[in-house]
Amino acid sequence: MDKERCEVVKGERLMGNGADDIHTMLRGEVHACVRRGMRSLSSYEAMDPASMRERLGVMAGAGYLGILVPTMAGGEGGGWQEAAIVVEETARAQPVLALMLSSHLSCCHGIMLWAPSEQAERFLPPLAAGAVLGGVAITEPEAGSDYDAVQTRMERSGGDVVVNGNKCFVTNTGPGFESGILAVIRGETGLASMYIPADTPGFHLVHHYRFAGWDNLPNHAVLLQDCKVGGGNLLCDGLSRDDLRPFLAGGRLLTVAVAAGMSWACLEEASSYGKERNQGGRKIVEHQAVYFRLADMATSIASMHTCLLQAAACMDSGGSCLREINMLKLFSTSRLEEIASSALETAGAYGYTADSRLSSLYRDAKGLQLHWGSRDLMRMEIAADLGLETA
Ligand SMILES: Cc1cc2nc3c(=O)[nH]c(=O)nc-3n(C[C@H](O)[C@H](O)[C@H](O)COP(=O)(O)OP(=O)(O)OC[C@H]3O[C@@H](n4cnc5c(N)ncnc54)[C@H](O)[C@@H]3O)c2cc1C
Repeated sequence: MDKERCEVVKGERLMGNGADDIHTMLRGEVHACVRRGMRSLSSYEAMDPASMRERLGVMAGAGYLGILVPTMAGGEGGGWQEAAIVVEETARAQPVLALMLSSHLSCCHGIMLWAPSEQAERFLPPLAAGAVLGGVAITEPEAGSDYDAVQTRMERSGGDVVVNGNKCFVTNTGPGFESGILAVIRGETGLASMYIPADTPGFHLVHHYRFAGWDNLPNHAVLLQDCKVGGGNLLCDGLSRDDLRPFLAGGRLLTVAVAAGMSWACLEEASSYGKERNQGGRKIVEHQAVYFRLADMATSIASMHTCLLQAAACMDSGGSCLREINMLKLFSTSRLEEIASSALETAGAYGYTADSRLSSLYRDAKGLQLHWGSRDLMRMEIAADLGLETA
């Protein structure tokens, strides 16, 4: 689907009848948009930054980078269900793009949650249009799971705010990307959220993380050194840990969408390999041990997908759903690791080669468990929400 066609479908999407029609159309549209021009999915090749930018540009043209942003701020005015579908379908074809998209949407979400309307009207339109790629910076050298412990500090200086500190693992930062990050820092009266464009003086990229998976993900350590941002970039001061809950819920919901999409990809890849390869006098997919494995994968994926859309609907209705989303993230990222492992095994040694897509899905699956908090952190938060002793 070319850019123009994407625009047309975007218009049709708004005229669909009922949520299911619209969601089916949206899924088909994303499927075509993300895969356009791609070579066969079966052979894996890491995306380079230029093709990431090109693909994100097409997705921005289709409105996906502004899917959560209100129309009056230049977005699509969609909700979490639409965002989940877009991220899930993107992950099915290109997990790295989906992770970038989910970080971008989380940045938009933070601004929508915390920015007074005048700032939101300033920051959101370039993000919605894809002119700026949004990221989220919470993690620090001494604050990973314990995000209450963030040390990055702000000081007021005339009409400006000066920020000092270190942020780690910030997705969507890197040379060639015009980024803006939503940073959670220590404010004057608690935690604070701040929007910091990467071209602000004092914003330095100091290290490019190369993960065991997520090849070429633009992800950096950021040094904020006397980083002077306008006072208007401080979105909200005095946030408590509880105030972060809706923000965490959104980020983790999109991580579930990535996990669901990657799980689909594993099933598709393993099934198509199993239908081609003959061993023991038949296609390997005809061996009961193999088709049972595929049936188990499909069963997990169906429940992941259904729960994802339910959780997204809960977010859309303004519900407080972090506990359920934490459970779902724990479940889906755990199942994804098992699914990726089973899928790789189904393709035998071929699956384990570096240029097989399954080996990249397998490597990515482990890292996704850490994104927006480890599985232990999910367990700790679930236990705390259940009123259980967690000390
Ligand atoms: C691909 C990828 C992309 C990422 N993108 C971003 C991003 O864009 N922005 C960002 O801010 N961060 C990002 N991160 C970082 C991610 O959010 C952190 O890795 C995650 O929050 C865990 O923090 P940590 O790595 O410091 O681990 P730690 O907090 O050091 O934890 C290490 C281990 O100790 C366990 N542990 C920690 N505390 C406790 C406790 N109290 N009780 C029991 N067990 C405990 C954890 O569960 C974990 O198993 C990304 C990570 C990855 C892998």
